[in-house]
Amino acid sequence: MKTIAVIGGGITGVTTAYALAKRGFSVTLLEKHRYAAMETSFANGGQLSASNAEVWNHWSTIVKGLKWMLKSDAPLLVNPKPSWHKLSWFAEFIGSIPHYRQNTIETARLAIAAREHLFAWAEAEGIDFDLKKKGILHIYRDKAGFEHAGQVSRLLAEGGLPRRSVTPEEMRAIEPTLAGTYYGGYFTECDSTGDIHKFTHGLAMAIERLGVRCLYGVDVQAVATDGKRASVTLGGVAGDERLEFDGLVVCAGTASRALAAQLGDRVNIYPVKGYSITVNLTDEVSRASAPIVSLLDDETKLVSSRLGDDRFRVAGTAEFNGYNRDIRADRIRPLVDWVNQCFPGVNTRSVVPWAGLRPMMPNMMPKVGRGSAPCVFYNTGHGHLGWTLSAITADMIGDVVAQSLGRPAPVASGQAAIA
Ligand SMILES: Cc1cc2nc3c(=O)[nH]c(=O)nc-3n(C[C@H](O)[C@H](O)[C@H](O)COP(=O)(O)OP(=O)(O)OC[C@H]3O[C@@H](n4cnc5c(N)ncnc54)[C@H](O)[C@@H]3O)c2cc1C
Repeated sequence: MKTIAVIGGGITGVTTAYALAKRGFSVTLLEKHRYAAMETSFANGGQLSASNAEVWNHWSTIVKGLKWMLKSDAPLLVNPKPSWHKLSWFAEFIGSIPHYRQNTIETARLAIAAREHLFAWAEAEGIDFDLKKKGILHIYRDKAGFEHAGQVSRLLAEGGLPRRSVTPEEMRAIEPTLAGTYYGGYFTECDSTGDIHKFTHGLAMAIERLGVRCLYGVDVQAVATDGKRASVTLGGVAGDERLEFDGLVVCAGTASRALAAQLGDRVNIYPVKGYSITVNLTDEVSRASAPIVSLLDDETKLVSSRLGDDRFRVAGTAEFNGYNRDIRADRIRPLVDWVNQCFPGVNTRSVVPWAGLRPMMPNMMPKVGRGSAPCVFYNTGHGHLGWTLSAITADMIGDVVAQSLGRPAPVASGQAAIA
């Protein structure tokens, strides 16, 4: 049986291991933390949002970024200190502006295709992840934002996504808890939300049942290939250990760039920092005052998701500041202020802040496919939509690996893949 190593136990690594185990491969998952989903897949915005498929490669993003450059509480913040990594990434970001339309349509198409896999896997494996199929409401405070959303809606429609404009009165009917004055909104009924950490944890248990060898607490120090097979060197207190495989899939989030370089590939992922707060809804008034429908506020670039009865997650902002993971008080404050303004009945005394690094490609499209060596593969670089896209890209990479290395007999749920 062909052996495959998957590096990374975030949403992309665990879904990839699942897709490969289901295809009958002998899979080893390598994760440096003691548990799955402890980095970017820990406390994100929760949105499974085809309606957020618009890529950021647009001149308006550059103009806004320049305006916000010196404002510490702005939705987008760039540390002006130059680095080759940042400069090369921005150059490629600008170079991808001509593909804005095509990449937005393609992302919408992928996001829609992801749904059936994700929901089917959760059902097959009995995973409770606070899934809410209540739709996503995009809210706009001014005419310009609303009109731009109209243009985006036409692109999303080309990708197969229905999204309708709604009046302020209709917005109030869709989500009665939302306070404030709005110009209008766009509602996507078929979008949903869920807890990425709970899902990834549940699927990590499922892959063990399928026979995947899950090695947690192992740091992959080096990767190499002779073109036919791939090797992985694990660092440990007892010294380094080298393992060999027929194939290797890199799903290491923001670390994928450095691993790819060792394998002779350029995967120019930049760590784009974002923040979230999880508001604990500890009293009845707060639970009744927090929204059920997920929101995306295009002006502040914040998203929100209701996770179960007693948690409300707000996430967003983009910060270009290298691999720094510090939780900055001045970046968390606007998230709490947003809750206080939009949902004044919610008590914000119990708020858990978090920061994560989005593994983002300059063209905002995930890197899914073969590397330069025939036994090396990538499923990484999902940026702001890794939760939304993970199930479809895992399915895609499963097919690519099977085509490249030969397809073993598929395995039914609950059956061991490794003899
Ligand atoms: C604030 C914020 C809000 C977001 N909101 C949304 C949203 O609403 N909807 C959406 O679709 N997406 C959202 N995203 C994006 C989404 O969370 C990410 O795209 C996704 O979690 C990335 O998953 P990943 O598996 O690629 O990376 P990670 O989850 O970071 O997983 C990579 C794993 O690789 C491991 N690893 C790395 N190097 C090594 C090594 N050398 N050895 C062993 N293990 C290694 C790491 O420990 C890590 O566990 C958001 C992101 C942020 C930051």
